[in-house]
Amino acid sequence: MPISIRVPVASLAAALVMGACAPAPTYDLVLAGGRVLDPASGLDSLVNVGIWGDSVAALSAAPLRGTEVVDVTGLVIAPGFIDLHAHGQTREDMELQAQDGVTTALEMEAGVFPVAKWYASREGKAPLNFGATVGHRPARFFVFHDGIEVLHGATNPGVVAGLGPMPAGANQAASAAQIEALGGTIRQGLDEGALGVGFGINYSPGATPEEIGQLFRVAADRRVPVFVHTRAFGIGAIRETVAAAHDAGAALHVVHIASSSLGDLPEALALLDSARAGGQDVTTEVYPYTAGSTRLESAMFNPGWQANLRLDYSDLAWPLTGERLTRESFERYRRQGGWVVIHMMKDEHVDRAIQHPGVMIASDGVPFVNGTGHPRGAGTYARILGRYVRERKLLGLNDAVARMTILPARRLEAHVPAMARKGRVQVGADADLTIFDPTTIIDRATFTEPTLTSVGISHVLVNGTFVVRDGRLVSGALPGRPVRAAAPPR
Ligand SMILES: [Zn+2]
Repeated sequence: MPISIRVPVASLAAALVMGACAPAPTYDLVLAGGRVLDPASGLDSLVNVGIWGDSVAALSAAPLRGTEVVDVTGLVIAPGFIDLHAHGQTREDMELQAQDGVTTALEMEAGVFPVAKWYASREGKAPLNFGATVGHRPARFFVFHDGIEVLHGATNPGVVAGLGPMPAGANQAASAAQIEALGGTIRQGLDEGALGVGFGINYSPGATPEEIGQLFRVAADRRVPVFVHTRAFGIGAIRETVAAAHDAGAALHVVHIASSSLGDLPEALALLDSARAGGQDVTTEVYPYTAGSTRLESAMFNPGWQANLRLDYSDLAWPLTGERLTRESFERYRRQGGWVVIHMMKDEHVDRAIQHPGVMIASDGVPFVNGTGHPRGAGTYARILGRYVRERKLLGLNDAVARMTILPARRLEAHVPAMARKGRVQVGADADLTIFDPTTIIDRATFTEPTLTSVGISHVLVNGTFVVRDGRLVSGALPGRPVRAAAPPR
């Protein structure tokens, strides 16, 4: 068992000065009697955890002394869950995610722009660690609309809506000069610490393959991955994206593989596997629901959406009223704008993606509006551990936890140093920890009551501070820190 105890230099020195044996150190917090599950090292044992400040300082089979000792007998101590696809970035959204075991919520698909301003707007206000890519779409709006600052489209949709239907930033092809300018905005975002480059190509149909290829090369030059919602649904667009990333030499993460590939999921998983076998750096993720959600006024619902999504009006639901849409209500709500739920996937595809080796879990949670929205923003992680692991036994507990912790950490740690300290329960790691009861953990959020919190999660620590304690949200706890990329290579 890889167990070590790190004694702080100061207390060792004090012990030597006093000429005495080093006394057992006293940790700020000890989690006693829990089953530590650290997929990165393979540790799965009853181990006491000592925490100093914001870090894990000791793992020991022997008892540890703590200023505070919390008995977690019968519970699993896992690394805090890292969500690579968290659009819901308000405090309320994060508080629901905290109660689902998430400790780091990153906006990688849509991204943000301007980047430094977005980070500054979050600092000191977040229950969870936060971060974002520089977003191709917000950068496009900036370039096409005289420096308009979307910052973050999901929590600031009014900026785009104000441009009216079919805005140029989404729908117009870029000139060579505009592509040049887009490259500049993306480089600027990366200079400001963005975690990669986010693309929602289906939402910016004006972006040609040439534009995407050139901007993938910007990411490749800076050695950061691209996080991509493909140009369309189905295998054709996934193939296009994998080829473009290959040609540009960019590392690629394809978001929400079950919705992106629809019925072509087996081919899509095989394509990603063979790209990886051929040496390409390609990863993907899934959320455990058969419906998606997005903004109805977005370009995804431009004419032709039924063929792209392989759906019709009645497959769309309007969460604010619960109604299924018709041609008439679709037109009306599209002019008004708002979140729509899209019933688009089959259980067998979601199951298959969740079980497929190496596929990460990510929520794609969208902001809740007046308590309405999509349940994935509140229940994704407990749903995996309760329904897919415990009830249906579709995957093992260690495997599931790995897909929520060390896999997303490894996706980023080459260029984001902070991620090398996350996704792990190890000495020196950040004390981002999720402590749950594997026999009771379950999601409660549904499409009719999407903000019902998950249960069976006893404690959640972010940088050593409780955000959930004894199964309850600690109101006012804002220990979340910004996660930024390292300075670019020279
Ligand atoms: Zn998406």
